[in-house]
Amino acid sequence: MPELPEISYYKKYVDSTALHNKIRSVHVPVPKLLQTSEKDAEEHLIGTEFTKAIRHGKYLFLESKNGNYLVFHFGMTGKFDFSHEDDPPKYTAFYLMFEDGAKLFFICPRKLGKIYLTESKDDFLKEHSIGKDALDFSKDEFKHLLYKKRGSIKGALTNQSLIAGIGNMYADEMLFQTGIHPKTSPSDLSEDEVNQLYDKMIEVLETVSDRKASGESLPDNYLTGHREPGADCPKSNGKIEMMKISGRSTYFCPACQKEK
Ligand SMILES: [Zn+2]
Repeated sequence: MPELPEISYYKKYVDSTALHNKIRSVHVPVPKLLQTSEKDAEEHLIGTEFTKAIRHGKYLFLESKNGNYLVFHFGMTGKFDFSHEDDPPKYTAFYLMFEDGAKLFFICPRKLGKIYLTESKDDFLKEHSIGKDALDFSKDEFKHLLYKKRGSIKGALTNQSLIAGIGNMYADEMLFQTGIHPKTSPSDLSEDEVNQLYDKMIEVLETVSDRKASGESLPDNYLTGHREPGADCPKSNGKIEMMKISGRSTYFCPACQKEK
């Protein structure tokens, strides 16, 4: 599922392809993703152009010259493809054609993505209860937020209304890199552990974003490539285990991440 690093990648992708090109037409092969009417989308988009792409959490806002935003949530499988092809790629749910014939396709095989129009980014974030972006937190803000939370640290990290952008996979990675068991209650973490978790949160998100952009694989000591029960831990002699936490499949190494 696309998380902050993947959306950062698509922000750069849109920046380098789809900005400053007048929109000629709007096409909606899978209407259920569009959270407004097709007519409304046409009225707001045709004739304008995107000036900027802004990522917040797992959302990508395409700001248009007329002051509106076309907003994408990628669901489990959403992705962009910009091309001059006439035929939409398989599973295209929505696309825009530009004045020069180029197209921005939004491809979504599992149809769990969502596309919105909004006049205000701030109102949109409020309406959808989206918290501050993970990369905008200061260490102190992060600490204060976590110490107020009940439940598990895994649940807190993936709660989009608290911290926007972290999903199942990179929450597991941050906890693995910090050596914290995913079931730990945030209030049981020492100040030192919270500081380290903050540093690892930033490090993991930035490392994965950079590696996606450059096409490099993730560092060898990352858990992400070993998400399988019984797999060898990339850091110790332990074996990776899976447990459900808040209904999500959570991978960890019991040797590296001791339960408190
Ligand atoms: Zn281990």
